[in-house]
Amino acid sequence: MIEFINVTKIYSDSDVVALDDVSFKVEKGEFVFLVGPSGAGKSTLTELIIREEIMTEGEIIVNGMELSKLPNKKIPYLRRNIGMVFQDFRLLPGRTVYENVAFAMKVIGASGRAIKRNVPDVLSMVGLSGKADMTPDQLSGGEQQRVSLARAMVNRPPIIIADEPTGNLDPENAQEIMKLLEDINGRGTTMIVATHAKNFVDEMQKRVLAIEHGKLVRDEEKGAYGYEA
Ligand code: ADP
Repeated sequence: MIEFINVTKIYSDSDVVALDDVSFKVEKGEFVFLVGPSGAGKSTLTELIIREEIMTEGEIIVNGMELSKLPNKKIPYLRRNIGMVFQDFRLLPGRTVYENVAFAMKVIGASGRAIKRNVPDVLSMVGLSGKADMTPDQLSGGEQQRVSLARAMVNRPPIIIADEPTGNLDPENAQEIMKLLEDINGRGTTMIVATHAKNFVDEMQKRVLAIEHGKLVRDEEKGAYGYEA
């Protein structure tokens, strides 16, 4: 599903080796925490998966696509396979909850009928059916993150990548978001979650990939966070 084969990423402007000979494989349906100190290379790793950055050496295979050979015109297709969730939500301000989620379907050319069917479904799944007409500024942080989760899953991508999804949330909302990520994974979506949330990593007993100074230093089934919080 996602495979890194001896991947090195050097940012040419700074000569920084952001990833150094990293290899791992994530199978369909897995839940993987990506941990490591700031600057370790976690964002670089996710940016390589969505081809926002290009590897310097090695190969990355996502859903059967070899990214070194992927023509630029196929990048939108690659990205359709991957729902993204960010720490800062990245919702459209001034648009309703419904419109924010519907927009993700419109950009890939979904029919009006499909939009009318799927958007209420995913809003219900994240517990926001009653708030479809509100705008992001009328929502709590936890609710905004649930909208962004609904948006990430509305096109039913096989993979969701969440980059610090609980970074801006209080413990209670963070717990809800982690639970939702786990539920969505339980329905078959492969889940990659970059996080500093030690308590959840330790509690949830998922696979842990740890990156330090660009190197993959740990790959554990049912792992722990392994750093001081
Ligand atoms: P993390 O997400 O774990 O905090 P990053 O992947 O953002 O780590 O960064 C890894 C290293 O690559 C850092 O040294 C960072 O300064 C460097 N880096 C990240 N993005 C760029 C960029 N666009 N250009 C140059 N250097 C970068």
